[in-house]
Amino acid sequence: MTDFNTFSDAIIAVVGSRASGLKVADDAVSLMLDVSGLSEEQRAEIETEVRAAVEKVGARSVRIMLTAERIVPRLIAVASGKGGVGKSTLSTNLAIAMARTGRSVGLVDADIYGPSQARLMGVEGVKPEADGKIMIPVMGAGGVPFLSMGQLVNPGQAIAWRGPMAGTALSQLVDAKWGAVRDIIVDMPPGTGDIQLSMVQKHKPVGAVIISTPQDLALMDAMRAISFFESAKVPIIGLVENMAGYLCPHCGEMSDPFGSGGAEAAAKELGIPFLGRIPLDINIRIESDAGTPPALGEGPISDAYSAIAQRVATWIDSPKDTVA
Ligand code: ADP
Repeated sequence: MTDFNTFSDAIIAVVGSRASGLKVADDAVSLMLDVSGLSEEQRAEIETEVRAAVEKVGARSVRIMLTAERIVPRLIAVASGKGGVGKSTLSTNLAIAMARTGRSVGLVDADIYGPSQARLMGVEGVKPEADGKIMIPVMGAGGVPFLSMGQLVNPGQAIAWRGPMAGTALSQLVDAKWGAVRDIIVDMPPGTGDIQLSMVQKHKPVGAVIISTPQDLALMDAMRAISFFESAKVPIIGLVENMAGYLCPHCGEMSDPFGSGGAEAAAKELGIPFLGRIPLDINIRIESDAGTPPALGEGPISDAYSAIAQRVATWIDSPKDTVA
């Protein structure tokens, strides 16, 4: 008799994570196959391939149930206590760095106060299409599908939604046609307002990444964001320190305009993971504003974002106790 793992390995080799619910009894195999997003022809092809693969490793009979059920993506909130600390820049680069490792990642710009992601993603002014009332994400930098609060209003128009209106707008972005996207990075507005409440009440994220600059005042703000998520039972994935240390492009001297290491020390004190440090580097702003965020390229800055992405991905993939 063939063991479960042999069948499972054979199936994964053909269809990866599209297969689920594998059952094996006396070499009779049954499984579910997610065929969402595939044409009729592709569906038939993939079914035949899976059937052949399991028969080859010893299946006596094979039952395949096709399903085109929508995958519900996991949300990862990127938050800060206040604006201007580099939250949008981190969200974009984190999504791109995760996508570069082969993950299926999307990005939502939920920052109603200043949605800036479209520029960073190189899709400023590109209007998303819709399937009926369901929005279809636009393809941004690094092949990352993307939707923004800014796409729900005319360019330059201020967003003045409160309460339920803000919540509805967030739902439009989160419940869009994300296809095979499994993880969505959500760039949250700074602070703890309506969007944050709607997010934790209606679209509970699996975890939150908090970003801060190193100085004490910014860290005090970050702590408020941390305690907001903790009180909503959203686990903190960790803290990122941004704008830590400035390498002068002229003289090469390293200086610390905002200090350095404060976030790491704060993370330690709070007992939350420290995810990494991004230096203050003018190229981050220049490349981001040009719609070619540094995580797309190579070099120390791209490496710094990759290291953070790796830690976040490891956290998402690790089994964890569910918080009630
Ligand atoms: P937030 O989303 O927190 O308001 P942004 O990501 O929009 O902040 O960043 C604010 C400004 O700082 C932007 O012009 C951005 O390009 C710049 N910036 C962010 N991180 C860095 C960094 N590490 N080095 C240099 N400039 C940065």
